[in-house]
Amino acid sequence: MRKKVSSFGYPIERPSWASFADYIFDSGWFDDSGNRPKTVAAIRHFCLNPKVTDEEVNALTELEDENHDRISLVVFAPDPNQRGETMPLVRVSKRPLGIIYLSPELERYAQSSVNRTVAHEFAHVLLGHYKPEHPDKKVPGFKGEWYRDLPAEKAVHELLAKWGYEKGGHR
Ligand SMILES: [Zn+2]
Repeated sequence: MRKKVSSFGYPIERPSWASFADYIFDSGWFDDSGNRPKTVAAIRHFCLNPKVTDEEVNALTELEDENHDRISLVVFAPDPNQRGETMPLVRVSKRPLGIIYLSPELERYAQSSVNRTVAHEFAHVLLGHYKPEHPDKKVPGFKGEWYRDLPAEKAVHELLAKWGYEKGGHR
């Protein structure tokens, strides 16, 4: 069996839940102190989902730009009880950032729905949609019925179907 290697030439190993959790939560932008239980569970579900490949989980931790410079991924999941917060951006990294925002409202939804939303946003990242110049990223200024037919959304839903998250309906 051939060992898969990353673009850096290192063997691709699926990050453990512990190290993936550190990667997502240690930025300081994810409230993991118990106020976002469903969101945390959805991150864990994605990390351990056997239909998501080792390479896909690993790729989220090794994002890079066109020049192969590393990019930091920030998952912003604020405490629902906070009215507002100020945080130093430099604390995260001096590298360019990709940001996923996960609304506190998620905690009011069914777990399966939260799992799907988290996987949806991870899919956008894996497909390179965090890059400002990505061709599929050009979204017109308003959303309509055709939103799900945008190239970026179609590509995301193909991945979600492969991962077993698709149930029909957007998000
Ligand atoms: Zn989307």
